[in-house]
Amino acid sequence: MKPVIVVHGGAGSIMKEYEEGYCSGVKRAALQGYKILAEGGDAVSAVEEAVVVLEDDPLFNAGHGSVLNEEGEVEMDAIIMDGKDLTSGAVSAVRCIANPIKLARLVMEKTDHMLLTCKGASLFAKAQGVPEIFGEQLITERSKERWRKNLNPGSNPVAYQLGLGTVGAVAIDSQGNVACATSTGGMTNKMVGRVGDTACIGSGGYANNSVGAVSTTGHGESIMKVTLASLILYYMEQGMSTEEAAEAGLNYMKTRVDGSGGVIVVNSTGDWTAKFSTKQMSWAAVKDDQLHYGIYTGENKIVPIAASPQ
Ligand code: ASP
Repeated sequence: MKPVIVVHGGAGSIMKEYEEGYCSGVKRAALQGYKILAEGGDAVSAVEEAVVVLEDDPLFNAGHGSVLNEEGEVEMDAIIMDGKDLTSGAVSAVRCIANPIKLARLVMEKTDHMLLTCKGASLFAKAQGVPEIFGEQLITERSKERWRKNLNPGSNPVAYQLGLGTVGAVAIDSQGNVACATSTGGMTNKMVGRVGDTACIGSGGYANNSVGAVSTTGHGESIMKVTLASLILYYMEQGMSTEEAAEAGLNYMKTRVDGSGGVIVVNSTGDWTAKFSTKQMSWAAVKDDQLHYGIYTGENKIVPIAASPQ
């Protein structure tokens, strides 16, 4: 099986001045994940590593750079899933850790549970030796500014809520195993304790070796209403291509609940797609040693890996 990785950096509307940063972030993450796959590594490790790259990049709404809740604090959600045996791990409303996706993987591998939240998640993180950091270390000037703007009675929250850079990855490894990972700070100015789609299996992501893997981004409550990741895999099981299924899922979410978002998909034979119903979504993919990337609808730039920045 030829390995494939696809990465997204959030659906929405990206300001011109940030376009390049979003593009180079997803490219770096895809190359990092692909390196693992090319060296014979497994899909779960590849998606985890790709997401870590973006959690560490302050431009994206995950880990460092997460948006703030109504109290001006960071609370993050993340999920990881292994398509081999349908095991998954997720955390929700976690604070004071740098890489929620790593904690989600520990939930998957070291507990009998699938989702830990809030205090329980942080107790588990401590028990596993995950370093605790100051919440302020995750906060950027940009996220503070957005938070302040949204506190303004005249602001249009929806305009600020989308396009902030939730991150995700899907992959298939040389053994034919698929995996997905998604991580986010959620929606800006969300209520304290709000859990979004990202932590919820079938919404923020799903992976099943017999069909493929999906990671989603966009308006979390809409994604949850239609369990977008599962819906897309269901369409694929019914015979649709990755592209048709992604489009059908996003269309259904638009017409049924008026929700917008984006998805990345890989199937069990290594076909992949990146689709969105928002104005933009930064994404990158690597297959056959070619790096693909884009940010606008229909865009698919291709460069050989040797020529791309590492
Ligand atoms: N889906 C994320 C959430 O609702 C936000 C996003 O993808 O932009 O938490």
